[in-house]
Amino acid sequence: MKRNLSNLNSQHTAALRRAAKKARPKPLVPKALGVRLDEGKGPVRDGAHMSRVAGQRCLVCNMPHPQVHHIRECFPRTMGVKVGDDKTVPLCVTHHAELHMTNNAAFWTRYGVDAVRWADNFYRETLSRRHP
Ligand SMILES: [Zn+2]
Ligand SMILES: [Zn+2]
Repeated sequence: MKRNLSNLNSQHTAALRRAAKKARPKPLVPKALGVRLDEGKGPVRDGAHMSRVAGQRCLVCNMPHPQVHHIRECFPRTMGVKVGDDKTVPLCVTHHAELHMTNNAAFWTRYGVDAVRWADNFYRETLSRRHP
């Protein structure tokens, strides 16, 4: 009788454990992709997306093989913190240097480029390619 009871107990515990495992929420994005959609846990790190940006052309003069610029100046609250890889734009060596030497907002205004919008759209495109 005693043995039966303990048997029943361990069965019950196993069932509980199984239920708890099932109830555990799955992450939205598989870890293997290296992408984090959860904001507020530090800047996005995404090498594959950086490569895609580098494969574009300079947003100002359309030169191929640009450098990748992080749009730090558009996010005053993140000053001193590295901006995420989702906020990146392609710029040729010349325009990249010019941007870093001048007032950043004035630079984008002068060339009529909405850098933040470009970066957001392009990052969204990267994500949608992974999860169509
Ligand atoms: Zn350029
Ligand atoms: Zn830069």
